[in-house]
Amino acid sequence: MPELPEVETIVRGLQKKLLGLHIEDLQVLRPKILEQTDIGQLKRYLPGQNITRVERRGKYIIIGFESGCILTTHLRMSGCYVLFNTPQALTPYTRLCFNLSQHKQLQYQDKRALGHIRLYRPGERITALEDLGVEPLGDTFSAEYLMCRLKRHKRAIKPLLLDQKIIAGIGNIYASEILFAARISPVRRSNELKQAEVKRLFHSTFDILSQAIISRGTHISDYVDSAGKPGNFSEFLRVYSLEGEACRRCGVKILRIVQQQRSSFYCPGCQK
Ligand SMILES: [Zn+2]
Repeated sequence: MPELPEVETIVRGLQKKLLGLHIEDLQVLRPKILEQTDIGQLKRYLPGQNITRVERRGKYIIIGFESGCILTTHLRMSGCYVLFNTPQALTPYTRLCFNLSQHKQLQYQDKRALGHIRLYRPGERITALEDLGVEPLGDTFSAEYLMCRLKRHKRAIKPLLLDQKIIAGIGNIYASEILFAARISPVRRSNELKQAEVKRLFHSTFDILSQAIISRGTHISDYVDSAGKPGNFSEFLRVYSLEGEACRRCGVKILRIVQQQRSSFYCPGCQK
């Protein structure tokens, strides 16, 4: 599942190439991916409008148009945007295809078709983004903010890191890796973490996500960036998907447990 680093990588790739182009026409191959939006609205509001913004918020991709229309995309399990310099044949997984100016083409591909795309008209409240918590690489995220939020909850720290209303963008891979880097067990209750641990958690969050962006994301399942290339962070994974392997820090075997129906990977030797 694409998380903050993968979405950021896609957005950076699209930013370089999409700004200033406009949609000439579009084809919706799987209407189910449209959320509270119909094909007629896309065809009425988007063609002819220059693309003025491509941004990320949490795990959402935001594409803005000169008219003030905004398209939000959540990639969910297997969505990706792939940009082509010339029109290409559609794949079995192409769910939406934008033919752009300068003969470029943007395909939204999604093997499992669980992603969703929504159009917001000018001035409309962007409800998808309203409930999102802090950006973990943004200026408002700090050890103090984290301390304050963690104190309010008795939940285990790992599921809490996945809560998009508290911190936006972290998913299952990076939550496990961040907790390993911070040497904190995923089962610890968030309100019982000591100040020094919260500081480590804050720094680990920043370090892991930044490093993953530099590596252009993790190559896991179907993820590719906007140029169709996989990410390189897999070599930096220390616990995620490594059940039974020896911890590189202390040699103890890595465990997998299930928390709220999601796998958590951790080292019982050095994560306390
Ligand atoms: Zn260890």
